[in-house]
Amino acid sequence: MIVNMSESATEQEIQHIIDRVREAGFNPHVTRGATKTIIAAVGAGGRRHEIESLQAAPGVENVVAIAAPYKLVSRQTKPHRTIVHVGDVAIGGPQVVVLAGPCSVETREQILETAHAVKAAGASMLRGGAYKPRTSPYEFQGLGEEALKLLAEAREQTGLPVVTEVMGTEDVDLIGDYADMFQVGARNMQNFALLRRLATANKPVLLKRGPSATVKEWLLAAEYLLSGGNPNVVLCERGIKTFETETRNTLDLAAVALARELTHLPVIADPSHGTGKPALIPPMSRAAIACGADGIIVEVHPCPERAWSDGPQSLTIDAFRNLMQTLSQPLRPVAVGNGTIRLGQAASAD
Ligand code: PEP
Ligand code: MN
Repeated sequence: MIVNMSESATEQEIQHIIDRVREAGFNPHVTRGATKTIIAAVGAGGRRHEIESLQAAPGVENVVAIAAPYKLVSRQTKPHRTIVHVGDVAIGGPQVVVLAGPCSVETREQILETAHAVKAAGASMLRGGAYKPRTSPYEFQGLGEEALKLLAEAREQTGLPVVTEVMGTEDVDLIGDYADMFQVGARNMQNFALLRRLATANKPVLLKRGPSATVKEWLLAAEYLLSGGNPNVVLCERGIKTFETETRNTLDLAAVALARELTHLPVIADPSHGTGKPALIPPMSRAAIACGADGIIVEVHPCPERAWSDGPQSLTIDAFRNLMQTLSQPLRPVAVGNGTIRLGQAASAD
């Protein structure tokens, strides 16, 4: 349930509602907008009718049910978009951000060269795996703490904040000592113990969509983080499993637009894992931005043919530079009747 306070509600009236929500057996989550305050009553086992009765309390505009099962993630609870700050990078603001780096951290030279190159090309954040979720146990599993140290050195040299994957609760403290943002990989989207732990970890989380997860399941995974106390969540669409075999996954850009419609959280797209094909990364990056993505995350390697993981989908440094230059390339003009319109101009009647 949501208690919408009126514009003229006093601080005392707001506090009274917060207390009453607790008394009714729910957790109060307060969103203070520019003019109005919204108090969400969230949790299982509370007494709904007591919240409904708050309609009669002073300072209350109305009491409504939250239609979605993901209560705190829903835009109904927080109509204004969330901006997640990672270091001095703002994800979800007016500018599209680019997170770039290798699939895995391999050597000091490899990560430092990549970090400097993506920074020079305009990336805002550095990615790189230290703990890798590999389909086969015989594949490279990541350098662990050694990679975390190298990522920290790369951040020191370039100023780029670092995002890296955490696969298990036992690694959260260590990774938190080095990284600026935790990545929850697609395979771990519903690792509920991990989500509960990251909810109290005090660092932002990049939550990838599971390859077989519905949008509702993805948003409910985000709800674990918000309801547990971490409001700094960025959603990432990275492609889902479909019958298509020509691309590694099917990048579901409708889900990007939908997630931005349903939630207040920033949403980014991963065209590297989403397609598995370097040639498709520039067009799908532009498409992601066109449909509202707040950013993209892209795999870049100084020598993809020598990469220890995901080489075939990695962009070379040159290709990444080109991508950055064409990211904001305008769409093609659309023919209207006999003439054409330019982008950003309304179609004229004649
Ligand atoms: C990755 O980012 O390298 C990765 C393993 O991604 P995903 O979890 O989306 O497969
Ligand atoms: Mn990868």
